[in-house]
Amino acid sequence: MARRTIREQTESIERETLHPHACLSSRSRGRARADGEDDIRTCFQRDRDRIIHSKAFRRLKQKTQVFLAPKGDHYRTRLTHVLEVAQIARTIARALRLNEDLTEAIALGHDLGHTPFGHAGEEVLDELHPGGFDHYKQSLRVVDVIEKDGRGLNLTHEVRDGILKHSKGRGMIMPEAEKERPATLEGQIVRIADIVAYLNHDLDDAIRAGVVQRTDVPDHIARVIGKSYAKRIDSMVRDVVQASLARDLSAVVLSGEMGAAIYALRDFMFQAVYENPVVRAELDKAKGILRSLYAYYLDNTEEAFRDVPIPRDTEKHRLVCDFIAGMTDQFALMTYEKLYFPQQWKVL
Ligand code: MG
Repeated sequence: MARRTIREQTESIERETLHPHACLSSRSRGRARADGEDDIRTCFQRDRDRIIHSKAFRRLKQKTQVFLAPKGDHYRTRLTHVLEVAQIARTIARALRLNEDLTEAIALGHDLGHTPFGHAGEEVLDELHPGGFDHYKQSLRVVDVIEKDGRGLNLTHEVRDGILKHSKGRGMIMPEAEKERPATLEGQIVRIADIVAYLNHDLDDAIRAGVVQRTDVPDHIARVIGKSYAKRIDSMVRDVVQASLARDLSAVVLSGEMGAAIYALRDFMFQAVYENPVVRAELDKAKGILRSLYAYYLDNTEEAFRDVPIPRDTEKHRLVCDFIAGMTDQFALMTYEKLYFPQQWKVL
């Protein structure tokens, strides 16, 4: 009998040790373009690696989470958000004996389509792009089309599904309708880990910024989720693990009590932080910058994209929208300055 590869051995370890409802890498529905198997890594490990090595992943380090280009080094960025989601999601996946590699790949890829200036950027592109704009659809577009000069990362079906269905805005944390939920339990973990991560770190940053005080969190919420940053993540993670096991892993869920506390915390965060006029003021200025950049690139498409390798049939609005969505905060500010600020004459 031929010797089995390391990847094949890893696949049997998955079969022997993971929960019967786990998504096994050997049962993946595969990629849009067949590209063979690696002899060391499973398909989901390769997807995680492709995401980490992508240009869009590196740009997350200079994209706003909530506070615009903050001077303090301890504020979250979109990159640290994604890393915290991956940490929380992997803890849950391992506790439930689900596929940690698939979970990690979805977590690291879920926000690749985020615009500069956080949700303010998303609102501008949604208003200007004729087809509308949603960051989760853009994340899929980044991995399917934009990366690698238009060839995309050619990820597996399961990772793509998890990326597309992670977002909930102000909707249900886990929708009742099966077709609206991520198809794998691993994708469902990321959907919950995303909100666990962002509510907690945004609250932590808002306290750091002096926008809210620790004691502002209403008592009925703090009683359920805990009073410190560490305690809150811990109680939410424990709740997901226990509530999902109590349902025999038919879905990844929160208990009724914790779910209600998280919805209440989300309402508190919208009112106290995300829609706080002081936080919004800078983001509204940033929206003006993106509107000007959009108009400029729409008027100067030929010249601006002359040397960029893009498929010939890419429509003008699509091209401008993709370009702006991909910008970091710093690149957008720098480009705006170059285009619209008079430059000082340099005398040699
Ligand atoms: Mg996210």
